[in-house]
Amino acid sequence: MNPSTSFRQKLLIEKEKISKSRTNSVIRTRFDKAVDEADKIGLLSNKSFLVKDNIAIKNQPLSCASNILKSYVSPFNATAIERIQNAGGIITGQTNCDEFAMGSSSEYSIYGSVKNPYNLNLVAGGSSGGSAAAIAENLADIALGSDTGGSVRQPAAFCGIYGLKPTYGRISRYGLVAHASSFDTIGIMSKKIENIRKTLSVISGKDRKDATTVDRKVDDYKPLNNVDLPKSIGIIKQEVLNELNPEIAERYQYLVSYLKENNVKINEIDLPFFKYCIPTYYVLTMAEASSNLSRFDGVRYGNRADCENLSELYFKSRTEGFSDEVKRRIMTGTYVLSSGYYDAYYSKALKVRRLIKEGYTSLLKNCDNLLLPSTPDLPFKLKNRMKDPLKMYLADMFTVPINLAGIPSLSIPAGFSSKSLPIGFQIVGNSFKEETLFSFAHILEKEEIFDKI
Ligand code: GLN
Repeated sequence: MNPSTSFRQKLLIEKEKISKSRTNSVIRTRFDKAVDEADKIGLLSNKSFLVKDNIAIKNQPLSCASNILKSYVSPFNATAIERIQNAGGIITGQTNCDEFAMGSSSEYSIYGSVKNPYNLNLVAGGSSGGSAAAIAENLADIALGSDTGGSVRQPAAFCGIYGLKPTYGRISRYGLVAHASSFDTIGIMSKKIENIRKTLSVISGKDRKDATTVDRKVDDYKPLNNVDLPKSIGIIKQEVLNELNPEIAERYQYLVSYLKENNVKINEIDLPFFKYCIPTYYVLTMAEASSNLSRFDGVRYGNRADCENLSELYFKSRTEGFSDEVKRRIMTGTYVLSSGYYDAYYSKALKVRRLIKEGYTSLLKNCDNLLLPSTPDLPFKLKNRMKDPLKMYLADMFTVPINLAGIPSLSIPAGFSSKSLPIGFQIVGNSFKEETLFSFAHILEKEEIFDKI
């Protein structure tokens, strides 16, 4: 059978699986176009990709799961998409998510909630829940998501797959619809570490279209061989572990004892300004979101309301276009930026962010990597947190500090709870040291650590 025929068959199988899926993870496909793009030579040759619906694909709808962009079709490709296609990757479809990537459960979507593939009564996590669930169900080899405060790692943990949030500036944000620009990163999800490494090496690097991309050499892809465990790692203290779901804590302790036996130096650490991370993150991201989302006004993109005059046009288009969570963030963000409150909130939060960043820099001088839980809880019930935004925000308590610091983190699948629900841990590293995360994860996978519990 020539590769072309086998690839066509693979696409047919994936198409069939998508049509039978019950998780609501994939919202549109483009198999007709995908077939014509097959068999291009490159590092990602014939790898199938599903892409979160906030990343631009030329001539495809780009709705961010929002009413306001329901009818918008992208006239251009994101840089990441361009690079994937040039390396032979095949974009087969687009995935469901929280509106404008704001949420932790993929329930705030005009397409309805994404469901967890391991239990359809539970959430898949968010905001890239569609991408995570689709990978767990084998609907594609690789998925792209976005991670502003945990939206790749938290759903990866809830769906039992790998999810990488790269260093800020590593991957171009051109074509990623902006949520909070100083936090946003495109992230990569897969069941295989090698797929993530290949994709990262293809899509990273300087891009003239995103001034925050960093001009650092991207290592050429080579298979992981002869890698070692880190020499030293930072772990969280017992008092923090006591706050976690006990099954997550138990696995964490098991992993730490394995690492000790294997001569990894263990340092118990305090997470820098831990209790200030969630408030700092939400002050800053809401401020940035309120500014970024001002472009959706009914004039330039997407849906325009029927109206009599210009101010009514803005008012009605935005009232009809955004859902409650997005409005809450725009209003809170406008408030913290307003002249009477700027110093008390926004400017204060910027200072705290600097301290958090410095805290992580100094931790990573003493440890090669940090090992953290990805989530404090197991996947929760659908609808359970929708009415309680604060509870929803707390789902990200271990992921947002990493975005505040801008450093890379990989969520790894760490086996299952007694009720067969996935658990995930984060391996965190220094800026631009993504390779250290992969080596560590590779050894844990090879040694099948989590199957031994
Ligand atoms: N759940 C977080 C939020 O709602 C993270 C979002 C994200 O990473 N895109 O802001």
